[in-house]
Amino acid sequence: MKLPTTWDGWATRVSVYAKEGKKLLGLPRFPINIEEIAPHFSRSIYPNEPITLIQGEDFGGKFEGALFPNESRDEWAILYDKGHSSKGRINFTQAHEFAHYLVHRGLTDKPFHCSRSNMWEWNTEYGRMEAEANSFAAFVLMPPDDFREQTKEFRKPTISDFEVLRDRYEVSITAAVLNWLKNTKTRAMIVVSRDGFIDWSWGSSTLLSSGVYFRAKTVTTPVPDVSLAALGPSHGLTAIQHPAGVWNRFEPVFESTLFSEYHEMAISLLTYPTSGPTRRFEDDVDDALAAR
Ligand SMILES: [Zn+2]
Repeated sequence: MKLPTTWDGWATRVSVYAKEGKKLLGLPRFPINIEEIAPHFSRSIYPNEPITLIQGEDFGGKFEGALFPNESRDEWAILYDKGHSSKGRINFTQAHEFAHYLVHRGLTDKPFHCSRSNMWEWNTEYGRMEAEANSFAAFVLMPPDDFREQTKEFRKPTISDFEVLRDRYEVSITAAVLNWLKNTKTRAMIVVSRDGFIDWSWGSSTLLSSGVYFRAKTVTTPVPDVSLAALGPSHGLTAIQHPAGVWNRFEPVFESTLFSEYHEMAISLLTYPTSGPTRRFEDDVDDALAAR
């Protein structure tokens, strides 16, 4: 059988393999367990260079995961950081490294060492491989057919709605929200903040094309004083409709926030009105928060 050459070709192949395998065993389709699938799948396709080891290591947060062969390059190992990761993060990392094995291992002689930050770099060749590995992981763990079905009622979801998906697919809540944002027409954004400052954010394409985004990392942006993200978990509220002038100078924003026990992190889902403001305001929005 002809082998796929792209990440989505491989993702489709693995997804079908997982689905059929579970059906044969009479088990529910989800969650997808990469630790079970990768050794069998790799051996069936590449009997001379299968994945023979998937193991947790304490990388001390330096790496999320790694993929490398033995000296004779006839066996491969996936390692993942077990020291600083939730089950969902580990699952995603394993799938990410599995993608490097299937799609990228022939492109470089170097082993793959993936850290959290370079999983988000995209403007280099390595960044492209990272983006593809993330797309593969999202596709395989949250297959589009099922994900669409699960989220078809999401008009103005709260972050809590994604807890159901987190449990169904055994992924992190941010992975589930990102997967929705990448496919929805809703103008929405995830904002992850730490100690009152935006760590990173990601908006849906409809939101981005209406000029709303935060320039994370390049400038230090505090979350708004009256946002749930700033108020903290003791406040007890989980969702609130803000008027214009809180998260955005021109638009009201619906915010729901979940506080993670890890690293004092707040994960906020912001949804904006269906249609954006009529005039474009990229220049204003960048510093909208700072200028308040
Ligand atoms: Zn990687």
